[in-house]
Amino acid sequence: MGYDVLTGEQREIRDLVRTLARERIAPRAAEIDATHEFPWDVVELYREHGLFGLFHEERFGGTGTGTLLSLVAIEEVSKVCATSGLILAVQELGSLGLKLSGSEEQQARWLPRLASGEVLCAYALTEAGSGSDSAAMRTTARREGDEYVLDGSKRFITNAGVAGLYTVFAKTDPQAGHAGISTFLVEPGTPGFEVARLEPKMGIAGSTTGELVFDAMRVPAANRLGEEGTGFRLAMRILDRSRPGVAAQALGIAQGATDYALEYARSRETMGRPIAQHQLIAAKLADMETKTEAARGLLYRFGHMCDAGVDDAELTKASAMAKLYCGDVAMEVTTEAVQILGGYGYIKEYPVERMMRDAKITQIYEGTQEVQRLVIAREMLREQRALVGAGVG
Ligand SMILES: Cc1cc2nc3c(=O)[nH]c(=O)nc-3n(C[C@H](O)[C@H](O)[C@H](O)COP(=O)(O)OP(=O)(O)OC[C@H]3O[C@@H](n4cnc5c(N)ncnc54)[C@H](O)[C@@H]3O)c2cc1C
Repeated sequence: MGYDVLTGEQREIRDLVRTLARERIAPRAAEIDATHEFPWDVVELYREHGLFGLFHEERFGGTGTGTLLSLVAIEEVSKVCATSGLILAVQELGSLGLKLSGSEEQQARWLPRLASGEVLCAYALTEAGSGSDSAAMRTTARREGDEYVLDGSKRFITNAGVAGLYTVFAKTDPQAGHAGISTFLVEPGTPGFEVARLEPKMGIAGSTTGELVFDAMRVPAANRLGEEGTGFRLAMRILDRSRPGVAAQALGIAQGATDYALEYARSRETMGRPIAQHQLIAAKLADMETKTEAARGLLYRFGHMCDAGVDDAELTKASAMAKLYCGDVAMEVTTEAVQILGGYGYIKEYPVERMMRDAKITQIYEGTQEVQRLVIAREMLREQRALVGAGVG
């Protein structure tokens, strides 16, 4: 067995997820992609084996096994099916508001149902006119007695129509910019709530991406997460912790594509030898493997940091770097995998064209790569570094 950064207990759980991915999810991946149907059978598999619990503490019915292992689980599943990996990642994304800002009562009511997977969840920040510039959102929440009245809409929301709980951001004080945003827990049966449409997409085809409409939708004030005006800060804290889930999805896609291309290159022969023995192909394989391993280093570092309890402030840059690098590596590696398979790479009978389509979204959602670069540079500019020599300027 090669060098492994995981402990024995972590390896056992990783191996269980790996086996489920290989035996139960991989055979479904092409069909999920072709039918664009949300894979409830995969959700059921996760429920049966307690995989949603990987994201939660023991007191809420989770495994309490920490962040690193939860990322490894997303990676393992995404090696064979990015849609199925995303289901795990979004269960974390949609739970984080409750974990970071929920009252004891809110947490006790919802977290056990999220940890068991009885309820799926979603995170609703983006609107038609506000993606990267999320503070420009137009959805409003007006206080009326013990309720808030929400009006507006959210676009591109993963798990739309399948989630039983939505974390929704809305302006309680439209004049106050970032400081005027608040967060609400919304259940889909609420009058005035509608999933208006689902988007056909390039990849992650089994995942639903939809528009939510709130038309004078009333939610009890008890459904507000945290204080009024703390929503923007919470949205960003959530993303700091959830972006690595996208990074793990990207890493899994990259590893899956590398492994497939390697096997193909071993057996496909041209000019009298396996293509893996042509130097130009060997160089591609070497670069794919090296970049994927480097991406894993950044991602697992983030997992270790979380499990070591480092300050939130330190997570921002580590999270953005992991998401940026893993996403870019996934796109690059899957493109090369298609190239290594030649014409077969472009054909749906082989999985690498799906992997390439799936990889693209990891450069876009939960903050585009451009936004990650802005975040990383901003954090760098805040740091005080000891300069070598006399300094600059
Ligand atoms: C399949 C899918 C699932 C999604 N799931 C969710 C979800 O569950 N919840 C949710 O809230 N949202 C979700 N999103 C939304 C996603 O996070 C946004 O699409 C993304 O953040 C980009 O926003 P935008 O599409 O409005 O692009 P824009 O913000 O309009 O950006 C357009 C381009 O300009 C660049 N750009 C923007 N601002 C700057 C800048 N200051 N400097 C340099 N470049 C800049 C961007 O990087 C991008 O290349 C999802 C999107 C998709 C496609």
